[in-house]
Amino acid sequence: MSTLVADTVSKRFGGVTALSNVSLELREGEIHGLIGPNGSGKTTLLNLLTGYYQVDEGDIRLDGESLARSPVQQRPRVGVARTFQKPRLLGSLSVLDNAMLGGWCETRAGFLETALALPRARREERALRDRAEELLHGVGLGYAIHRRASLLDHAEQRFLEIARGLVMRARFILLDEPAGGLTEGEIEHLASIVTALRDAGIGVLLVEHHTDFVFSVCDRVTTLNLGRMIKHATPAEVRSDPEVIRVYLGA
Ligand code: ADP
Repeated sequence: MSTLVADTVSKRFGGVTALSNVSLELREGEIHGLIGPNGSGKTTLLNLLTGYYQVDEGDIRLDGESLARSPVQQRPRVGVARTFQKPRLLGSLSVLDNAMLGGWCETRAGFLETALALPRARREERALRDRAEELLHGVGLGYAIHRRASLLDHAEQRFLEIARGLVMRARFILLDEPAGGLTEGEIEHLASIVTALRDAGIGVLLVEHHTDFVFSVCDRVTTLNLGRMIKHATPAEVRSDPEVIRVYLGA
């Protein structure tokens, strides 16, 4: 089974210990929730798993191989994609062009072949365009393919970021607060997308504050508090755990 693993990782920022000896195993074909109060280290862990930060201690492994020292730009090549709390898109480009950006890493044509529109470059671009269009339809953005990305609303931007990750053939996709700012109807659509990803064998990490959403779609949930893992279990076990209730869920 394919896994993306944080193995007893620690991360400090100056005098602040953001994470201390935290482990998490994300498996293919599962939705894994990561919850905890603000400042508990969730985004830091996501940044370590995706290579935006380097670990101080511990290791990040994909299928057993260490990624800890591989640069962030290598992550798409190995199949690890992410989205951001505030979607990062190129607003002046079309929705389709933004989605196609996810496929840059698998094209083989060189700069000159592309600039001169030589056959291999044209073939690759057609294939990438077809794939991006198909995935945009898959996330429900088929109607907006030729729209400028800056004209999309918040939820549409989030779905476009997911499509961009899928265009890069992600095996693991890590979503940073994807339900933030979405209506209940949009969250239902998001739930159908992440469930479809899981069913397609992709491993999904959900860093999320919307706990009803987390508990309804996740297979397993990890809870952090003050940079430490306090509970890792099924949604039912996590939501009834006294420590999780005390530090995060409330009575
Ligand atoms: P969460 O995502 O759970 O809200 P974070 O991972 O953002 O938590 O933050 C964990 C801790 O690390 C917090 O105390 C935060 O202030 C600190 N931290 C996170 N990123 C940085 C950074 N780039 N520089 C300094 N401190 C940071």
